Order: sequence, then C-alpha cells, then structure tokens
Amino acid sequence: DADLVVLNTCYVRENAVDRVRGHLGELSRLKREGRVKKVALTGCIGAAEESRQLEKQYSIDLILGTHNTYELAEFIGLPGMEETHTPELPGTEGEHTAFVTIMTGCNYKCSYCVVPSVRGRMVCRPMENVVHEVRRLVGSGTRYVTLLGQTVDAWRDPEGSGNKFFDLLGRVAEEAPRVWFTTSHPSNMEDRTLRLIGERETIVGKLHLPVQSGSDRMLKAMHRGYKSDRYRRKIEVFREAVPRGTLSTDIIVGHPGEAEEDHEETLRLVEDCSFDSAYVFKFSPRSGTEAAELAKSPGAVPEGVAQRRFLEVLRAVEQNAFKRNQRKIGSTEEIYIRHAKNGNGRAVGETWSGHAVHVPTTAEPGGYVTSKIESAGPHVLYAGEPVGPPR
Ligand code: SAH
Ligand code: SF4
Repeated sequence: DADLVVLNTCYVRENAVDRVRGHLGELSRLKREGRVKKVALTGCIGAAEESRQLEKQYSIDLILGTHNTYELAEFIGLPGMEETHTPELPGTEGEHTAFVTIMTGCNYKCSYCVVPSVRGRMVCRPMENVVHEVRRLVGSGTRYVTLLGQTVDAWRDPEGSGNKFFDLLGRVAEEAPRVWFTTSHPSNMEDRTLRLIGERETIVGKLHLPVQSGSDRMLKAMHRGYKSDRYRRKIEVFREAVPRGTLSTDIIVGHPGEAEEDHEETLRLVEDCSFDSAYVFKFSPRSGTEAAELAKSPGAVPEGVAQRRFLEVLRAVEQNAFKRNQRKIGSTEEIYIRHAKNGNGRAVGETWSGHAVHVPTTAEPGGYVTSKIESAGPHVLYAGEPVGPPR
C-alpha cells in the first residue's frame, strides 16, 4: 500500500523497457484495487519518446525525464526547486557510502547507444562545487565517495580553470577517506590518472574501463575512437601502476557486422587483459541508433550465434577471474564493510584492491576489518574471522 510509487528507470537495453512494462501492469492493477494511489515514471525511459505511449497505456500520473527530476518535489507538495545549470544531485547525508555525480550526458556517439539522445550532451559540474559537496558528505559521516558519470575521465572544469579529471580526482582523494570513480572511456583516460590510482592511498585500486570489443573493425563500426592496441597499452600502464589492482570492463557481443574473426579478437583481448570481471552484453537494437538500422540489414548477427559468443566471452572472463582470485588466498586484507552481516552470517566488503569479499563479522557498514583470505570463487573472495576489533 503506497501513496506514490516511483519507477526510476534505465533505457540502455531493450529488456529494461520490458521489465518496466511488467511493473507498470502490476501497478495499474494495484491502483484499480486502491492500494496504490499514484505512479510516477522517472529516469531515461521517462525522457524517451516511448514514455508517451506508456503514459496512455498505463495511465501514469507523472512522467519525468532526466533534466526535470526536481518537479517530483512539487508533485508531492514539497517546495519546488529550480534546476541550476549544473547537475545538482547531492548524495544522502549521513550515509557511509555516497555517490557524487560530476557530469551528466555524453559527447560520444557510439553506434549502439541511446544515452546521448536521452541524456543530452556532456555537462560538467564545477570543481569547487564537487569538492564542497564531498567535504559536506565526509563531515556528515560518509566514508566512501564514488564519483559518477558516463565518461568521468572526460570531465573538465566548466569554470575555465583548466583542471581535468586527474586534478579533480587528486583533490577529492585529499578530502575523502576512500574514493572510487565510474565510468571511464579509454579515449579520455590519461596515464597520469592511472598512476594516481596507484600513488594515492585513499583511491581504491579498481578500474572499470569498458572496451566493448577486441576487434579494430568493430571498434570502428561502434565509433569508439580507439584501437585495441591503445586499450592494451592503457591496461599495461594500469597493471604496472597498480599491481594489486582489479580491472573490469564492458563487452558487447553480436553488434551488427560482427564476424567470427572479430569475436576471436575479443576472446584474445580478454585473455591478454586478464580482467577481474566483466559485464558482457548481447547487442540489443535501440531505436534511433545507427546500429539498430544496421541490424535490419543482412549484417545482423543471428540470435543463436550471439548467444554462443556471449557464453564464450563470459566463460573466458570467469576462468581468468577465478585464476586471479585464487592467487589472493593467504593474503591479509583490510576490508571496507559495505553491507552488514546477512542471514548466512557474512558481511559483504571490499578490499583496497577492489575485490568483493564475504567476511564473518558483525562490523557496521562504513567500518573496516582485517582478515585473511581463505578461499575464492570467480566473483568473490571469502575471508576468515577478522583479527582485532573493527576500525
Ligand atoms: N558510458 C559508458 C557506458 C554506458 S552503458 C561507456 O561508454 O562505457 C553501459 C554498458 O551497456 C556499455 O558499456 C555497453 O557495454 C552496454 N550497452 C550500451 N548500449 C547497448 C546496446 N544497445 N546493446 C547492448 N549493450 C549495450
Ligand atoms: Fe553511450 Fe558510453 Fe558511448 Fe557515451 S561513451 S555513447 S554513454 S557507450
């Protein structure tokens, strides 16, 4: 029973819309029964054309896109807020972990991607504004700050100071006791930023750098703006600068035109970069994108082929990840507690190298424990009883 249900949505892949339809159907039923009074749809689906049709079909009470979320306050009778020219999305005070948006939108035009059309062009938040917010959050108890954006490494200070992401990350790493950032674009990632991750004790040694494909032909078709060798070189710099660090990526299989050789190049890259984890996606045609048009031609990759390639890439990633995780067994790690102990008696945490760990402790989220890694799977490490009290 609720006065208002807000569906905050993602539009990146087709099945996101299908899932939202499922929820909207259920909510319409609850509304008819009087158990839910109002339904709002926000986020990227709200910003897309498709939302008009959803609005009619499911009689949604309020639709908001990505630039007018402040209208939700007025809708529920709170004082209205004017949106400023920069994205103001303050993290929650008092939370041990906070997300700070440093940029919205994206200036790339990847063939398959719907983000530029629903989120618009890149808007960066001024350096001082970000630093102030981080200071305020840390002052209110936040112990872990994640800087967010579609291409955070493309950030530059809109106030004309000449500061780039490297400078911002350095400043934030002085303000917060633990820092991470996502997502980065290989074309913007500077070597000095990769080295900074290794140099600063407060930056988690974890890099998420989406590659999408190992084939130069596909990278070109996707308009990614780099070749696989350039990506490999970035990874070499990262591995050297952060030897104990973890590396993750995004990979799309089955983009229109992807031939068997392209797929093999991807498998080779997975082998060479030895990712600690990867999000593997089967290409999903998003209307209005260049790749969706290409998918209508004979260049489309048949579903069965895409599914096989998907499993092959996933298996390669998991085998590598499993081997790498096994090497952590026996090491003693300081673990940041993200989620308190659950039903099976283990809390979920993260090492300074960015590994996810299950650890038997009653420590509260935001605290640290030190434990020895006893076993490992492809996705998580398992630690033993902590030594000493939580910090
Ligand atoms: N801005 C980030 C990622 C944005 S979306 C970047 O450029 O890396 C997150 C991931 O979803 C992408 O990295 C991509 O791997 C995947 N993705 C985006 N559009 C997709 C589509 N149409 N089909 C399949 N996967 C897609
Ligand atoms: Fe989409 Fe990322 Fe490419 Fe931007 S850089 S168009 S968000 S995939």
